[in-house]
Amino acid sequence: MNYSRITDSVDISLLQHTHIVVVGAGGSKQLILNLARTGIGALTVLDIDKVDATNIVRQGYDQADIGKYKVEALRDKIKRINPNTAYTGITKDFLSMTVKELDAVFKDADMFLFLTDAFKAQSYGNILALKYLKPALWAGWYAKSRTAEVFFQIPQFTPACFRCAVSSRYHIQEKETISVSSECNTIFHSALLDSYIGFLILGILHKGASDQTKESAAFFKGLLNDNGHLDWNFFQLKVHPDGGNPLFDKLFDSMGKSAHNFTSCWQRIEPELIPKYDYDCPDCKGVLLKLINSNSNE
Ligand SMILES: [Zn+2]
Repeated sequence: MNYSRITDSVDISLLQHTHIVVVGAGGSKQLILNLARTGIGALTVLDIDKVDATNIVRQGYDQADIGKYKVEALRDKIKRINPNTAYTGITKDFLSMTVKELDAVFKDADMFLFLTDAFKAQSYGNILALKYLKPALWAGWYAKSRTAEVFFQIPQFTPACFRCAVSSRYHIQEKETISVSSECNTIFHSALLDSYIGFLILGILHKGASDQTKESAAFFKGLLNDNGHLDWNFFQLKVHPDGGNPLFDKLFDSMGKSAHNFTSCWQRIEPELIPKYDYDCPDCKGVLLKLINSNSNE
């Protein structure tokens, strides 16, 4: 592989020593291939589905992939793109894995991506990200695919967990099953969101990376560095004038409804802890916030 054209952006050696676990190989198919293209050393992908005809239109699989497990179709493509990327595809549902099986997949990885449209899987991802204390990212589209969200947590840098970020969804889930639909979602939706996710993954991986070669990889070393702790960890992306999102309306209303399309809004999500909220996050119990505080006291 010849990475000479991207060394101003990324630290290739760092990426070659990085192992990313991805849960969900649907809309994220191209993202996964592009991670291999960018030099990620090891990728483990979990998905229980086989490729069907609808996945060619929306997820970028080929006709020749129909009937294969998605993780198997990816194996062939990754080998053709970057034979140096160590690839593992898993068709077992991670919700039913034993502790030993989970350890084998997640314990030594450097980052987790939860890119499914199943709330159960997304929320279990939070338990694992907190258990193994690894950087993790969640992303998905809202109903009608007009707005998307991305949340990430980086131990020692960001204060809240995924559950803190979307606690209202957890409350709804207690009463009814949330089914996040990918209706209206085209390949262009996936490609756009995948690119944003790609930027963030590289920013997260380079955060805290060694500074010995300051000039190299300047783009991604600088992406999430703000001379202190991150002041944002959640973003929403709007791709339709009728995004139906109060945050965008509030921020951009004076510009007129259609003047703020294809924009993103960033927020800082705080941990949901008593007494600030009437709800103490049962997943993180403020552990990420404690890590930041102990880090800054050193
Ligand atoms: Zn939490």
